[in-house]
Amino acid sequence: MKWSLLVFVFLTNLVFASPVIDEELYVIGSVEEVKDLAQSGSIVIDHVTEFGFELYGPAGLKKHLTERGIRVFEQKKDKGINDYPTFEEITEKLVELARTRPDIMKLFSIGKSIQGRDLWVMKISDNVEVDEVEPEFKYISSMHGDEIVGRELTMRLIEKIANEYDSNSVLRNLVNNTEIYIMPSMNPDGSFSRRRVNARRIDLNRNFPDIIRDRDNTPATREPETQAVMKFQSERNFSLSANFHGGSMVVNYPWDSTYNLHPLNDLLIDLSLSYSRACSEMYESSRFNQGITNGANWYLVRGGMQDWSYFWFDDLQLTLEVSDDKWPRYSEIESFWQGQKDSMVNLMQKVHQGAGFRLADKSARGSVKISQLSPKTRDLGSFRYQRGEFYKVLEVGEYRMSLDNGTTFTTTVSDGVATNGNYKDI
Ligand SMILES: [Zn+2]
Repeated sequence: MKWSLLVFVFLTNLVFASPVIDEELYVIGSVEEVKDLAQSGSIVIDHVTEFGFELYGPAGLKKHLTERGIRVFEQKKDKGINDYPTFEEITEKLVELARTRPDIMKLFSIGKSIQGRDLWVMKISDNVEVDEVEPEFKYISSMHGDEIVGRELTMRLIEKIANEYDSNSVLRNLVNNTEIYIMPSMNPDGSFSRRRVNARRIDLNRNFPDIIRDRDNTPATREPETQAVMKFQSERNFSLSANFHGGSMVVNYPWDSTYNLHPLNDLLIDLSLSYSRACSEMYESSRFNQGITNGANWYLVRGGMQDWSYFWFDDLQLTLEVSDDKWPRYSEIESFWQGQKDSMVNLMQKVHQGAGFRLADKSARGSVKISQLSPKTRDLGSFRYQRGEFYKVLEVGEYRMSLDNGTTFTTTVSDGVATNGNYKDI
């Protein structure tokens, strides 16, 4: 039955009856645009805002409105999305940013989601085409597809760096001395359908090797999105990372999977505070003291990315819960950004609170023992290095590094961005 005929039926017979609701829609625009249908009684309008309104009606309503040139979404998929960018729009934006800033930005895909969406990563550094020996930092967002705020925050961060690199000395100094990698969307299929899980209904933050129960660090049998991140991590030398989630406002630090304290617990608290302190809404949390929490003390997570990252790669990772509402109105994103943009920069800068070394042999690999000499004395254990370089984020203090090739040196860790990354040439 054609819509015009349907309307005719409604107009003539059903004006005072409740309409049959087959479609739950959201219209961007004014109710004026559907005034005729409203008057016919064939639709229901609800929750009118300055942006648009919910619209309920019979099968064929969306098609009819689209033919009339009205911007309309299916609410089930897009309820509350309002004007969040689509995956295609995000892709275009990333391509455009990389195109306009080829001096400091390079866009690449580390794989594809189940539904074939690229898993984009933006590398940000000076000499961006060159793999320099610099501390490596990464942000990954929205491995839970319905926790969308971090995707928008990381996109804005990339944009901010692109726009302000020439004029903002803090950002320029950071970019020039760091390799920054930002992945705004680890689960684009989940975000497309506004679901936590990926397209095969798997929770990606339970899909990594578990440091307690699943110590086989191989990608086989894991989800494609997980596999892509595992491969990416193994090919780099990340020493500090964070992943963005939503549903609360707190920085969650390792471990997630055991109640044992992490050997670098004090450092993790310091790193967490570098984020929470600059975000008053987080820092003044009534639930979490200073806006931070030990992961396991909150709740246990098995197979999460955070623990996996440090256990196998010495890459300290924090889980940033950046919004109470997982999918707020898009118009609220700007205030989340204003509230956390300094936190995001602060945490990136923390990658420079560390020390490392660089060998002439670019293929050298081995292990290094690290002992802290001050302000406390303790052995931190043995760590692997590869590709002739090593770097580790540490508490401020004095350290001794003893390589398996016999080389030993002492080094000082301070905060602030070091122009050479605090690498010792040996
Ligand atoms: Zn999450």
